[in-house]
Amino acid sequence: MSMLLMSGCGCGLREDDRGIKELVSQMTLDEKISIISGVDQPMNFETVAVPRLGIPSVFMSDGPQGVSMTRGEDLHSTFYPCGIAVAASWDREAAREVGEGIGRDARARDIQIMLCPGVNIYRSPLCGRNFEYMGEDPYLAGETALQYITGVQSQGVMATIKHFALNNSEFDRHRISNNADERTLNEIYFPAFRKAVEGGVACVMTSYNMLDGQHAAENSSLIKDNLRAWGFEGIVMSDWHSTYSTIGCIKSGLDMEMPRPRGFRPDGIKPLLETGVVEEWEIDEKCMHILGCFDAYGLLDRDSADAPLPLRDPESDAAAMRMAIESPVLLKNDGVLPLEGGSVALAGPNADRLAFGGGSGKGNPYPESTTTLYSALSERDGYQVSLGGEAPTTVVCVGFDKDTESEGFDRTYQLPEGQDELILDAVARGVKVVVIINSGGEVDMSKWKDSVNAIIAAWYPGQAGGEAMARILTGEVSPSGRLPFTWWGSLEKNPCSANYHRSPKMDEFYTDGKRETRDVGYKYTEYAEGIFVGYRSEGRTAAPDYPFGFGLSYSQFEYSSLSLRHTRHGGVDVCFNVTNAGDVEAAEIAQVYVSELNPPVHRPVKELKGYSRQTLSPGETASFCIHLDQSAFSRYDMASHSWVSDRGEYVVSVATSADDIRLSETIRK
Ligand code: BGC
Repeated sequence: MSMLLMSGCGCGLREDDRGIKELVSQMTLDEKISIISGVDQPMNFETVAVPRLGIPSVFMSDGPQGVSMTRGEDLHSTFYPCGIAVAASWDREAAREVGEGIGRDARARDIQIMLCPGVNIYRSPLCGRNFEYMGEDPYLAGETALQYITGVQSQGVMATIKHFALNNSEFDRHRISNNADERTLNEIYFPAFRKAVEGGVACVMTSYNMLDGQHAAENSSLIKDNLRAWGFEGIVMSDWHSTYSTIGCIKSGLDMEMPRPRGFRPDGIKPLLETGVVEEWEIDEKCMHILGCFDAYGLLDRDSADAPLPLRDPESDAAAMRMAIESPVLLKNDGVLPLEGGSVALAGPNADRLAFGGGSGKGNPYPESTTTLYSALSERDGYQVSLGGEAPTTVVCVGFDKDTESEGFDRTYQLPEGQDELILDAVARGVKVVVIINSGGEVDMSKWKDSVNAIIAAWYPGQAGGEAMARILTGEVSPSGRLPFTWWGSLEKNPCSANYHRSPKMDEFYTDGKRETRDVGYKYTEYAEGIFVGYRSEGRTAAPDYPFGFGLSYSQFEYSSLSLRHTRHGGVDVCFNVTNAGDVEAAEIAQVYVSELNPPVHRPVKELKGYSRQTLSPGETASFCIHLDQSAFSRYDMASHSWVSDRGEYVVSVATSADDIRLSETIRK
C-alpha cells in the first residue's frame, strides 16, 4: 500500500501526476468515454476496463452497514450497526474500527469502492434514510464520518461520501428541489462533506434531489464552486440513474455516470466535441480524477484480490459487536433496568429477528454471526425467557424494518400498525414494561411513554444486536449511547416540520403492507428554518422530550475543575475532571458547546464543537482535555462568503447533553 494512502491523503489530480497525464494521453477518445461511466448494463456496480493500458474494471458495493454486494459466490458479509447507531456511540475509535472492518471485508471480496458513508443531516424523523446517516449535528456527523472513512481507506479501499447534497428526505426524491441559503448550506449541510474531503475521502456521490431547481449531478455550483473549491480531487459520481443531460453532466464537473452510460456515451459526447460545445480536456479531466484515484489505491499496478483475507473475519465481527454495545440510547429508566434475572417475557415483532432498514443500505449477515434478543437472553443463566408469556417484566421489541423504513419513500412518525397496542396491552397487564425501538430516529411514543418503565432506542444494530442488547438489559455493560439528534416528542415541536414537504393530506407510506403514493404536486422544499436545526433552535420552540446528546447510564457522573487555556493559532484547550459517582463501570460522553455572546448576526444559542468518551470504574476520576481549534469560534459570513471569527466573548460549556450543562466559563477571543 502506498504511503499516500497511509497518510490519509485523497486521490486524483496532483502536480506530480505526470504518469496519469501520460496514461490519459495514450487513450483513444472511445476509451476515455468508456471509463467515465459504469459498464452498460442495467443495475450495475462495475466500471469498464481498458486492458491494453492496464486499466482494470473496478467493483463497487453498497454499505453503509457492511459489504452488501460481491463478485463471488459468498453473498454474506459482516453486518455492522447502521450510520445513526455509529453516530450515537460518539466513539471515534469504534467508528474507525467499523470502517476498517468494512474496508477489510471489501478487500477480501475484491471490491475497490465502498458506496458509503452517508451524512445527510437529520431534519425530520420522517426521512426514510435517517438510519443510514449520522444525525442532526454537522460536527458530530463530520467527526464520525471522518473516522469511518479513514478506517475504510486504511485498508486500500475507496470510500464514497453521499449524497451531496440536501438529500434530507426521500419523498419524490427524483423530482423534489431542496433549497437552502448559502449560510445554511455552509454551517449545517456541507461541513460533514467538507471534513471528509479535507480528510482525504476518495469519492463523492451526488444526490437524487435537485438544489435550486437543478439536479445535483448537473449542478456546477455544487460540484465546482463548493466541492472542488474545498480541494476535492477525487471522483464525483452520480447516484444511480440521476443524470438527465450529457452537456449538464459534463459541464458540472461530474466524473462518473452510474450505474451505466445514459449521457456519457460516444453518440452523446462526440457531437458536442465536434461542435466545440465541449472540449476534449473536459473529458480528460474526468479521466484524470478517476485514474488518479485508481493509481493512489494501487489499482493500476496490483491485482486487488487478496486471497488470504478471510471472508468471515473475527476482527470485523468484533467491531460490529463493540458498536452494537456502545450505540443503544437509554431514554427512560425508572429502575427496572438492569433486569434482576428470573422470568422475562419478550414480545413484539423484533424480539426474535434481526430488524434492519431497507434499500441499498440493507445487508446480508452470516446466519451463524447473527443473534436476536431472544436467542441471546435465553442463553443466560438465571433467566427464564418466554415469548409473549406471563412474567413480572415484559420487554416489547417494536420498530420499523426494511419494508417500512427505507430509501425511496418517507416513513410514518407512528410505529407500524398494531405496535402501540402491543405496548399498551403489556401496560394493561400491570407488569413492568421495557420498550426497545428499532428505527432510524424519533418515533411517536405519546400513547405510552409515561406508562412504561424503560425505553431504549436501539437503531438497527446489525448482526450483534441481540447479544449486545442482552448485555445491556442484564447489566453486564452500562448503556452508553447518546442521541445524535433532538427527540422532540411531537412533529409540531420540530422547527423543520413546518418546512418539510409533507402535510397530513399527503400520502406516501406503508399501510397494510402496501406502499401508497399520491402525487399532490409538492416539488420544492424551502429550508426556511435555516441554521436553526434541532437543538440549534433552542429558545425558538418548546423544549424537547429528550435533548440532543442525551442518554442515561446505570451510573452517574460528576464534573469538576474546568480550566480553559488559549493555544496557538486561536485554539482553546478545555480541561476538566469527570468522576464516576455510581457503583458500576460505565462510559461517559463529555460534550463541549460554544456560544458567542452578543454576535453581530443571529446565531444558535450553542453549538457542539468537541466531545470525548471515556470508560470509568466506580469512584474513578478521569481528566478530559478537549482541544477546540479556531474553527470552533467561527461562523459563515454572508458578506464575505467565508468563515470569520468575531472578536468578543464566548461561553465554553461542558455538558452531558445540549440541555444539561455542568460547567462553563467565558473566554475572550
Ligand atoms: C442509492 C445510493 C446507492 C445506489 C446503488 C441508490 O438508489 O441512493 O445510496 O449507493 O443506489 O445501490
